[in-house]
Amino acid sequence: MKTMTCKQLGGACDLEFNANTFEEIAEMSKKHGMEMFQKVDEPHLRAMNEMQELMKSPDSMNEWFENKRKVFDALPEN
Ligand SMILES: [Zn+2]
Repeated sequence: MKTMTCKQLGGACDLEFNANTFEEIAEMSKKHGMEMFQKVDEPHLRAMNEMQELMKSPDSMNEWFENKRKVFDALPEN
């Protein structure tokens, strides 16, 4: 298992996610983001706006995704 925080995944808090694959952890952070969105949590709303800007360009979205994947791959197993 590897651990990444909400912040490391483009979010806004220090909540930790644990997963074996990057796809899994990305999914967890997405789900958490949705929950925070529903709670109208201001820092997460801001983070999500930035993500949406990024998503307008598939290239920068892919680049962002690959960068996060590299961070995940470089993490030690825990
Ligand atoms: Zn968060």
